[in-house]
Amino acid sequence: MDPVELLKEMIKFKTVSLKENTEEVKEYAPEFKRFAEFMKGILEKCADEVKVYKVDDEYRKERCRADYDRYIIIARKGDPKLEFNGHYDVVPPGTGWKRDPFDPWIEGNKLYGRGAVDMKGGLASMTSAFCELDDVQLVAVPDEEIGGACGTEYRVNVLSKDFPIPKYVIIGEPSNLEIDIGHKGAVWAWARFRGKQAHASAPWLGENAFVKAAKALPLIEEELKNAFSMVYSKYEYAMGHPLAKTITVNFGGIVRVGTSNFNSVPGEAEFSIDLRLIPEVEAEQAREVLRRAVEKAGGEYVEAMAMDGYVVSEDSKIVKVLEETLKEMELPVKKVVLSGGTDQRFYGTAGSDAVVIGPGHLEVAHTPNEWVPIDHLYKAKEIYVRAVKKL
Ligand SMILES: [Zn+2]
Repeated sequence: MDPVELLKEMIKFKTVSLKENTEEVKEYAPEFKRFAEFMKGILEKCADEVKVYKVDDEYRKERCRADYDRYIIIARKGDPKLEFNGHYDVVPPGTGWKRDPFDPWIEGNKLYGRGAVDMKGGLASMTSAFCELDDVQLVAVPDEEIGGACGTEYRVNVLSKDFPIPKYVIIGEPSNLEIDIGHKGAVWAWARFRGKQAHASAPWLGENAFVKAAKALPLIEEELKNAFSMVYSKYEYAMGHPLAKTITVNFGGIVRVGTSNFNSVPGEAEFSIDLRLIPEVEAEQAREVLRRAVEKAGGEYVEAMAMDGYVVSEDSKIVKVLEETLKEMELPVKKVVLSGGTDQRFYGTAGSDAVVIGPGHLEVAHTPNEWVPIDHLYKAKEIYVRAVKKL
């Protein structure tokens, strides 16, 4: 099966993930079922068993906000030693496209279309490899772009009884054919401040919560610097910048005050804090540092999300066979940690060794005129086939 032809077909499905119930849900929702049926048809030609699961309504309502059906496709051959994982959802097309984002086109070595690189390209290479291998499993999931709860999390938590998770997992996200052995963790929290709302012409009657928040920010920043500025990761990072090896922080991605007019003294104010952790530091530990810093600065700490980083052992057989394969194919052997999260962590909690390796460059993901190098699609397929045969 040719990964390029397969990818072109995949891009035509508008499997756009939406976080909320906007108007577009009506347009995109049926595409998930259509894509699942398409994949089933392809996989039935070479698998021993193919199943399409609809994510349970209760689970979906509890864990995933937007209200449309999600489908997970799993295919098995023999007694699987490894599972290929790929997400088939994509981000909304946005603007700035030269041509229709869902009608793929080729220019030289580049195949364009929404999802070409993130990551229907990887899924096409993996599907193509799956059909040439024995003792292997493939899963195609939705929802990776919106957190993964109704995608890989559901696969790991609910579908493991029917399809046990093998020891080794390859996720075909774009890695420029490098081996991503893990990713950073994160803590997301609000620093919340309270004052007293009043008319702006009589500010002495109020207490400005926004000013409190603004004054607290440098104090929190200083505390975090004291705690983390000397903490370096031992790993190499996909983003070569030296700061990638550290714990980084972003303030104010969202800022909220209780008012929306010039002439009010805000009685409440809060800003978001996004802390990115090296895998050597656990979320639990970082959370306490952040909580203390916010409270010391007079704020209330309200956590939105916390997740540990994940790194697979470099002695794991999956890492070894991939290194060997890249050498054989005379491709550069690079092992790096990603700054952003992937679905690897879900497999980590299940005790599997999960690595990311796939065609294309992460930098063009989510952009208009997203593309994947055509030679990467064939190389990725060959890497998968050769590596899995060595397991
Ligand atoms: Zn992706």
